[in-house]
Amino acid sequence: MSGEILGLFVPSNTFILAATFAALWLRARSERHVLAFSLTYLLVGVGFLLFHYVSVPTNIPFMLTVHAFYAAGGIAMFWGLYRRVGRKAPVGLFIAIQVIGAVLMALSIVGDDMRAWLYAANLGHGLVFALGARDLMQTGIRTSIDRAIVALLAISSAMFLARPVMAIMVQQRITVEVYRSSDFYALLMVGVGVLTLAVAISILAAVLQDQMSMVREDSENDHLTGLKMRRAFEQSAMDLIDRSVRENLPVSMIVADIDHFKQVNDIWGHQAGDRAIVAFGKLIQGMVRSGDVCGRIGGEEFCLMVWNCELEPAERLAERIRTAFAKMPQEGVSSDVRLTASFGVATCRPQEGFGKLFARADAALYRAKQAGRDQVCADRREENREPQAVQKISSSEAA
Ligand code: GH3
Ligand code: MG
Ligand code: MG
Repeated sequence: MSGEILGLFVPSNTFILAATFAALWLRARSERHVLAFSLTYLLVGVGFLLFHYVSVPTNIPFMLTVHAFYAAGGIAMFWGLYRRVGRKAPVGLFIAIQVIGAVLMALSIVGDDMRAWLYAANLGHGLVFALGARDLMQTGIRTSIDRAIVALLAISSAMFLARPVMAIMVQQRITVEVYRSSDFYALLMVGVGVLTLAVAISILAAVLQDQMSMVREDSENDHLTGLKMRRAFEQSAMDLIDRSVRENLPVSMIVADIDHFKQVNDIWGHQAGDRAIVAFGKLIQGMVRSGDVCGRIGGEEFCLMVWNCELEPAERLAERIRTAFAKMPQEGVSSDVRLTASFGVATCRPQEGFGKLFARADAALYRAKQAGRDQVCADRREENREPQAVQKISSSEAA
């Protein structure tokens, strides 16, 4: 009776998991690995039901069918886990391992002794799990949940490889009936159930974490340029300022605004204006380093935090962006016309917050506009001096 209850426990869990992953996939259909996880638990559940309730265990095709369900479930899971971290799973290798395992199984069912069969059935799973855990450990660890997944896969692999040895140590000669009615089998089912559930819960947690960060990024990033919107940018900028205090490294801010943008909209239309905004955003993004932060903080206004950068190199970066933009032909705008942008630069002072730093960079941008646009101005004021010290580095000076 207890065996019957256990026999129901494992498949009902796996079917609930299959349904949960399917529901999560419906929320984000491009995440095909989530669908693969649903398939995994469906296949494992069906395989288990077949094995536990259909009583023709010495029938070779039947045993191979059960094995195929488990093997396919495992391969679907690894396909999903690799895909989730942007890698291609060695599906061909996994299938080859499982096919060899299946051939060994077919050859090993001799009489009613299960020993060789147990070895063959578990070897394939053990190898696939070991290879998968190794690959994911090397490239797939970004969070502590990823680490938990890899650890559980490694434990599963060890369990698959050790299971036949343990079964045989417990009982010298095993028939299916003896094996299934043994306490060892019941204990094993609990172990398999707990481990399957632990792997599933860790994968579920990873999928939920992925979906949460997707929703957050979607709400924080501007749809036109993909850059952070004002609030998210400010938060990241403040984090970078805190880090600069902690690590005693400089951080500079560049504010940029496209010149005479109203005229672009008026003459060539709003769509051409939008394309110019996208082009400027992409240009900026392509010219900064990965530790820098970029945001679109207004219509055609952008802001950059340049990490580990003093004023002069930040000015030179702004100057490079300025000249590159001034050379770019713009889609939907007359081919002989080039758009330009103006830039304000300031370096964060000790104890200065985001607000004050932004005000200084914005004031420098204002000066650049006043001085004729298409130029970079840097705020060189000493801390307690008046704003007239804002100095322009003109395009001619930089050239
Ligand atoms: P200046 O050289 O002084 O910056 O002049 P400007 O014309 O660029 O002045 P301003 O910054 O005041 O104008 C920005 C214009 O940008 C106003 C608004 O119609 C337009 N704009 C704001 N957001 C968008 C957008 O998402 N797409 C388009 N096409 N235009 C936008
Ligand atoms: Mg403007
Ligand atoms: Mg503006």
